[in-house]
Amino acid sequence: MKHRHILLVGASFSGAVIGRELAEAGHRVTVAEARSHVAGNCHTERDPETGVMVHIYGPHIFHTDDVEVWAYVNRFAQFRPYTNRVKITARGQVFSLPVNLHTINQFFGSTMRPDAARAFIAERSDTSITDPQTFEEQALRFIGRELYETFFKGYTAKQWGRHPHDLPASILKRLPVRFSYDDNYFSHEFQGMPAHGYTALVQTMLDHPNIEVVLNTTIDQAAASGYDHVFYSGPIDAWFGHALGRLAYRTLDFHRFSCEGDYQGCAVMNYADKDIPWTRITEHKHLSPWESHEGSVLYREHPRECGPGDIPYYPIRLVTEKQMLAEYVERAQAVRGITFVGRLGTYRYLDMDVTVREALDTARHYLACLERGTAM
Ligand code: UDP
Repeated sequence: MKHRHILLVGASFSGAVIGRELAEAGHRVTVAEARSHVAGNCHTERDPETGVMVHIYGPHIFHTDDVEVWAYVNRFAQFRPYTNRVKITARGQVFSLPVNLHTINQFFGSTMRPDAARAFIAERSDTSITDPQTFEEQALRFIGRELYETFFKGYTAKQWGRHPHDLPASILKRLPVRFSYDDNYFSHEFQGMPAHGYTALVQTMLDHPNIEVVLNTTIDQAAASGYDHVFYSGPIDAWFGHALGRLAYRTLDFHRFSCEGDYQGCAVMNYADKDIPWTRITEHKHLSPWESHEGSVLYREHPRECGPGDIPYYPIRLVTEKQMLAEYVERAQAVRGITFVGRLGTYRYLDMDVTVREALDTARHYLACLERGTAM
């Protein structure tokens, strides 16, 4: 098989995994990254003042049920066991998330056991909603008005800049409701944190003699010509010069502050009340509990609408965006020699494990096409 020269646009999980797979298959790979670092929004670096490992673009916890994906990321980094336990401040009290038996009993001032709590919440749920379409309907159907208005309504309005009756039910479906005291935010079998951060992990993936990484380099259609194939993990609308309009994203502003000792006693504290402008505070040293630091660095997270030049985080995917996306995807499919991958390339909110899974599948599909001599 003739070896190809392949361009990967973007050096986060999609680019690094596809690049690695193709490099190991003997192809020459160039990875071009617009920012000054690899790992995209998973980027971690040590805070110069405190020495704490900081999740620069917000907390990332790796969690998956996919045995192969878990084994794959463990090839490139030592993972430390880490369980995500999130707290939420609401109406002058601190509660446990995701909504679990402790949250329910504390909120209603009760001592219910699992079956009683299940029946109690069922009584409060709006059973007239049979097929919830919006975030609000999903909440009213499954947790009832009191819990929805306390923990979700204000937070979601801040996070998405829209009323929950205008948002899809799928956003809330990410979170479980538990009738036990299990306060693990995720329900996946494997969960952990790379001991030396995500950037070191991605750098190790990209450390291969067939891979060349170029930072601070933005690639447009002209710059991408001359390669045998391009895998593009930048925003799909940017590739087409926003010809059909801009797909909407939420972006985040982080306000850093530091202190001595322990500020909040946990990694992530959410703030439900609407009059508090931030959605959450991350105390980064609690994301690396195996390390010891005297000082502490914290980021307050302020979501807002993403404008030109801002870093896109959350694809909004309202009806208008879905239509625009369908048209961009149609254009993308008409172009030969380029594959759109990852969160920005496909305009979906992907967790890291799903990104790795899709990248592995994409690389294998490409290699299989080469073997068969069919174009992709
Ligand atoms: N959410 C909320 N209150 C919380 C946590 C989450 O209302 O304390 C809502 C919010 O709309 C969020 C969604 O539930 O986008 C999904 O939560 P998740 O933790 O998955 O959010 P993400 O990972 O997107 O920050």
